[in-house]
Formats: sequence, structure tokens, C-alpha cells
Amino acid sequence: MIIIGAGIAGLCTAIGLHQVGLKPQVYEQAEQIQPVGAGLTLWPNALKVLAALGLAEAVEQAGSVITQTQIRSERGRVLTHTNLQDLSTRLGHPAIAIHRADLHRLLLAALPERTIHLGYTFDRFEQTETGVQVHFANGTVMAGEMLLGADGIRSKVRQQMWPEARPRYAGYVAWRGVAEGVHHLTQGGTSESWGRGQRFGIVPLNERQVYWFATANASEGEQSSPRDAAQEKEELLARFQGWHEPIQSLIEATPAETILRSPIADLRPLPQWHQGRVTLVGDAAHATTPNMGQGACQAIKSSLTLAQMLGQPDVPDRLARYEQTRRQRTAWITNTSWRIGRAAQWENRILCAVRNQLVAMTPTSIMRRQLVAAATLP
Ligand SMILES: Cc1cc2nc3c(=O)[nH]c(=O)nc-3n(C[C@H](O)[C@H](O)[C@H](O)COP(=O)(O)OP(=O)(O)OC[C@H]3O[C@@H](n4cnc5c(N)ncnc54)[C@H](O)[C@@H]3O)c2cc1C
Repeated sequence: MIIIGAGIAGLCTAIGLHQVGLKPQVYEQAEQIQPVGAGLTLWPNALKVLAALGLAEAVEQAGSVITQTQIRSERGRVLTHTNLQDLSTRLGHPAIAIHRADLHRLLLAALPERTIHLGYTFDRFEQTETGVQVHFANGTVMAGEMLLGADGIRSKVRQQMWPEARPRYAGYVAWRGVAEGVHHLTQGGTSESWGRGQRFGIVPLNERQVYWFATANASEGEQSSPRDAAQEKEELLARFQGWHEPIQSLIEATPAETILRSPIADLRPLPQWHQGRVTLVGDAAHATTPNMGQGACQAIKSSLTLAQMLGQPDVPDRLARYEQTRRQRTAWITNTSWRIGRAAQWENRILCAVRNQLVAMTPTSIMRRQLVAAATLP
């Protein structure tokens, strides 16, 4: 089995395949595994899968349990507050905030040595009735029984199969950062504040670090222009001036060169994920906008489903069955998350006031039910 990409999907698929007695090889374009990204929230549905992979306890220890969450206005008025403390007991697993680098480290440690090959950029594949040949940019060719493309939203494996399936830009960008030494300013809770065409999220990771994210509407041309890190941070501070504390303090406490900026995009649900002996997993198959915090959670779930399916050699059409199990659910998340993002990024003053009022008037029990539904998605 050949896996392309050592992201969350590629590594979880490899761990799952080892559990069912297979020996996958993972090929990653990066020359080195470096501490990457900012923070990540993992909902109980992901923790349930990580438990099946034998990793839930380690992930809980490396991250922190999210005990409550709020939606606030840009001035800091709490529109809705949901207590999540008893959620973990009810659902059997908590929601966790974790640094991406910590999650990556735990996933890598769960794999035997020499499973991951760095500096291998996938170029193209050829397949026959009995196997797949994979060509890499460094001139190497590898042969395997199957090819699993876990190479993210801009997947080259997918491009070869469906060149017309391209990421769709959502109309806004996101910045992500990890602030050090300002944990005490957050009072320990997670929150997302909604303004006009902008949002700011706060997620404490541990006693030291706070993960934050910010979004703002941007045209397609604007989002791709190159930027200077220091200037970008200044712009971000100006953009969120007048918003409630500790927003300015968090941005200020984050080194400019570590702030990540990404255009937000997803993938319109694909009608099919596999061709012959090649299939897709994670963002390569079902990238979603981050509005429900479900991209990585669903990548983790698809990885286990795929690995378990491949562990049953007697089952015919294993790849078709894998996608039958997962396609509908992930398509629902992609579409729902897209719609949430549209409303959350509204700019019109009146619409935003009405939206915030509606959120404030929605009974906690309904908000809670919706959150529980999202958190327990299969
Ligand atoms: C702003 C933002 C916030 C988010 N927050 C959350 C959250 O809180 N919770 C959540 O669940 N999800 C969240 N997500 C979504 C989550 O980040 C993704 O769903 C997840 O990282 C997908 O993992 P993946 O392994 O499928 O893809 P990736 O993480 O993109 O990994 C793909 C891997 O493939 C490698 N690769 C690519 N091309 C090649 C090639 N040609 N050859 C070899 N290797 C290749 C890459 O280097 C990379 O290592 C967020 C996303 C964004 C943008």
C-alpha cells in the first residue's frame, strides 16, 4: 500500500493499516518533518476514532479539554454560552484543543520506523489490473497493490483522476497564531467573536499557549498577493482595533513570522473518490471550510474506515464500500460548513445585527443540541 502525504489523514490511515496487519509506506514531499501549524480543535467524534487507534489518552494529555464555548459580539457581549463540561461524560470522549505539532508528533510516534519517506513528491501514477506504479519528482518509481492519496486539498493524485475538480475559494482568508504567556487573559474558555465580515476565535491550548484565529473577507486576487510578516501583523492589529480584549494582546504576543495566513477553500463534494486501485482520503477527498471544526475530525474518521475496509481482503469492492460509508456524511459537512461561513462573514450592518440578535435569542438548549449533534457526527 502506498500513501501519498504525511498529514493527519496519511498518518492516521497508516496507523489504521498497521492495526489490521498491513505494512503501508508513506511518501511525503517535505524534506523534514517540522513543527507545523497552530492549534486544532478535535471534537468527540474524532476522539472516539483516536481511541480506536490507541491514541485518545495521549492526545488528551497533550491537549486541553474544552469545557465551555461562547459566541460573542465584536465588543465582547456574550451572545451564547455553552457549557461542555458534562458533554465528555455523556459522549464518552471530550472535545480537545491541541497544538498541531503535538498531534503530529503523537501520530508519527505511533508508526514503526522507516514507514515514512521524506522528500518524495508525487508526480503521477499508472495502474494495471494487479497493481499501481507511482512516479515521484526525484525520479523514483514505486510499485504497490493500491495507492491512497492523502495529499490534501490541492491533491495531485486527485488532479490526475479528476482534473476538473478544483478547490473553490470561499471569499475569505484566515490567520492563525499561537500566543505565548497570555493564557491568564482568556479565563480559560474558548470563544468566537462575530463582527462585520470578520471573526476572531480564541482557544487556550495549555497553561502557556493560546491558539487564535481570525477571518476577513478578501477578493480572490487580494488573498494571493505576497506579504511581509511584520506589515501583515500590523494590518491585523488595525483590522481588529476596537474589538474586545484580549484580542489585541493575543496578536501582539505572537511573533509576526509565525502567523499563518490561508485562503479558505473547500472542495465541492465529488461524485466518486476511487478509480480502480487508487482512492483519496482526508482533504484530498472531502476538504471543508473550517466553520464546524470538522476537517481534521472527518479526515481521521475516513482514515480509520478506509484502513478497516482494506483489512478485509475477501470483501469485494472495498474502495467503493469505503466511500459509500463516508461520502454522504462528509458532503453534508462540506455544504453545511459552507453555509455557516457565508452567514458568519456577512458585512451588511443590519443583517449582522439581526444575525447576532438571533444567536443571542436562541435558547441555550437548542445551541447545545446543535453542538452535540456536530460533536458526535459519525
Ligand atoms: C484555518 C483552518 C482552521 C482549521 N481548524 C480545524 C479544526 O479546528 N478542527 C478540525 O478538525 N479541522 C480544522 N481544519 C481542517 C484541517 O486542517 C484539515 O482538514 C486537515 O489538516 C486535513 O488533513 P490531510 O492530512 O487530509 O491534509 P493536509 O494536512 O493538507 O496534509 C497533506 C500532506 O500531503 C503532502 N503532500 C501534498 N502534495 C504532495 C505531493 N505531491 N507529494 C507528496 N506529498 C504531498 C503535504 O505536504 C502534507 O503533508 C482547519 C483548516 C483551516 C484552513
